[in-house]
Amino acid sequence: MSATLNLAQQQAVNHLHGPCLVLAGAGSGKTRVITHKIARLIQAGLAPERIAAITFTNKAAAEMRERARGLIGRDAQKVLICTFHALGVRLMRQDGAVLGLKPQFSILDSDDVTGILKDCGGTTDAATARQWQWTISLWKNSGLNAQQALAAAKSEDERLIATIMARYEERLSAYQGVDFDDLIGLPLKILAEHPEVREKWQAALGHVLVDEYQDTNATQYEVLKHLVGSRARLTAVGDDDQSIYGWRGATLDNLKKLPQDFPQLQVIKLEQNYRSTSAILRAANNVIGPNPKLYPKTLFSELGEGEPVRVTDADNEEHEAERLVARIQSLRETSPHKAWRDFAVLYRANHMAKPLEKALRRAQIPYKVSGGQSFFDRAEIKDLCAWFRLWVNPDDDPAFLRAVTSPKRGIGHQTLQSLGTFAGKYRLSLFGALFSHSLPSALNARAVGGLHEFGRFVNDQQYRARHTHGAEAARAFMTDWLKDIGYEQHLRDGEDNDKVAAARWNNVIEFCDWMAGRAGGEIEDMSGASEMSTTQTSPGIASPRKSLLEVAQTISLLSTLNERDTDPDMVTLSTLHAAKGLEWPHVMMVGVNEGLLPFRLDEAENPDAEDAGEVPAGGPAMSDATLQRLQEERRLMYVGITRAQRTLAVSWTRRRKKGRQTLAALPSRFIAEMALDTATVREDPREKLRALRAEFAKKAQAAGAAAAGVEP
Ligand code: ATP
Ligand code: MG
Repeated sequence: MSATLNLAQQQAVNHLHGPCLVLAGAGSGKTRVITHKIARLIQAGLAPERIAAITFTNKAAAEMRERARGLIGRDAQKVLICTFHALGVRLMRQDGAVLGLKPQFSILDSDDVTGILKDCGGTTDAATARQWQWTISLWKNSGLNAQQALAAAKSEDERLIATIMARYEERLSAYQGVDFDDLIGLPLKILAEHPEVREKWQAALGHVLVDEYQDTNATQYEVLKHLVGSRARLTAVGDDDQSIYGWRGATLDNLKKLPQDFPQLQVIKLEQNYRSTSAILRAANNVIGPNPKLYPKTLFSELGEGEPVRVTDADNEEHEAERLVARIQSLRETSPHKAWRDFAVLYRANHMAKPLEKALRRAQIPYKVSGGQSFFDRAEIKDLCAWFRLWVNPDDDPAFLRAVTSPKRGIGHQTLQSLGTFAGKYRLSLFGALFSHSLPSALNARAVGGLHEFGRFVNDQQYRARHTHGAEAARAFMTDWLKDIGYEQHLRDGEDNDKVAAARWNNVIEFCDWMAGRAGGEIEDMSGASEMSTTQTSPGIASPRKSLLEVAQTISLLSTLNERDTDPDMVTLSTLHAAKGLEWPHVMMVGVNEGLLPFRLDEAENPDAEDAGEVPAGGPAMSDATLQRLQEERRLMYVGITRAQRTLAVSWTRRRKKGRQTLAALPSRFIAEMALDTATVREDPREKLRALRAEFAKKAQAAGAAAAGVEP
């Protein structure tokens, strides 16, 4: 094992009994340290169930699980490799009772939260509600509850949001629902306030490893401290230059705090990059150069100079996409890395995927979009999930409202409103109100009849789902259920375009197959939250066959944290944020323009900046906030560049669409900061592809002629 680790990595891997921090640049083998250390700990006698390795995205967790499996085989299944959020879910399912939380609580997605906030704040404007949501989330992430937020509020606006937050909190506890921030905040509360639970977890976990440590926020750090306790069997790896979640409350303070909170901390630095060629690494080092450093570091690579980094410009987004397709095709003809999965296209914002998707489809190149709208965000899938959530937790009001109206079953808006008022008055959930003896006093008999019928149907389905085990039974169950609710017809009624309706129905089928696969244990649970049994005392892995209800329990978490499939052979389209920690032989970054990367830097302070498009060179001094944003954007550029193993191409467009307008656009300042040789800059991949094809055609002709015994 050690043959494939350098000395510093070995040191980190062999430091078993105390806290250890690996602080190092991109591609230096930090994640490798984590996977090898898992193996080392098991070799040293620690049971795999007692190891937790925490990452930031499900995709990263899946990747880590894959790497661990390569090293230690089946034992990797038993290690708790998951995201902070999945760990939170596990803790809450097991020990949430101390906060009055039932194990079958619901995880509300962002849309549910917006809906509830609209209601709590008495607005119909989604943008306003989302603004509140954002603020509340920041408060929660810095450990404030509504009361504390109110006490700390500095403006009228903040006071208003804090009061709405109080109502929101009440609502959530009535629903037995938790939002995403609660998945960290509530475990912290449990661990901090309940020593018996804390001790249980500390005893259960023999070592905790954290990847991408630079992106932890204050709450996550506190959770971590409680989990490891004074024994501090902790390995954290991170890179301050890749901290890209400052906007979500991640704080580099956590890097600084570690040596203070754990004086015995062993700090290890890695300097060799094993991922990228020197040309790519030089561009990365140049870009990150201007940022302030937590500690000095320079990465070197021994993989040789490699292909120069390419910069291309294009007329507009469509042209850029065409060029990108041509580049992929030409690389496939020349590079030893030819599989579709060897290519990734990275961009700053989700909407930028669209022109790329169109061009890739036209060229019949298989691709997947990661970090964007997930399969689970589609309306039809959310409808089905609402039913599952309702089976799991009948008190989940947002799920109730969605299920009762998808498809519509003659229960009208008026009825639902009255039911809501009634439920509010008696402090019941909507489902709970359904069977209340006094409901007939509030609603007419027909409405009550309709509601009762719905309630009985849900109960009946829930009972059956609990007793449905294995893939085949699950598939049969879902087929019947979809027929019973008339879901296919519902899709056709709601959609004028037959093709769209058919595509949506296909999604439903695909989803049901996937659920069935999970019930049969054929598909592994990517959330790391696979078993949510309440009786279990130490984190471990569930039996492979599950009841459909158990499968349904894990859905809400997966649905928002997304990433359901393992890596099929496809080109990856991804936001820069979602690409963190991953690597591909060929990386293409598109839309590397001012205003996109860095993203709308000056908007707040200088609204004209985008039109003028000027990069202030020694111009007006930037505010601290803008400077910090610029630095974070620069780190994002650094993350993008350092995903590339063999080739990197960066492109920008001379014009960009903004709403209905097309505006002149400028290359990102980060392109200049890469300090490339100008000779390498312009090259039209379409030209190259044409030349290549002509050459191949000539060769093929010659070969064909030779085979036929004719002189060309
Ligand atoms: P990032 O900062 O992007 O998360 P990282 O520091 O986690 O990167 P890894 O992903 O662990 O880096 O490693 C980068 C690549 O280098 C991987 O393909 C890994 O297998 C390889 N690698 C790491 N260390 C070594 C080594 N000692 N010998 C050979 N290959 C290595
Ligand atoms: Mg990594």
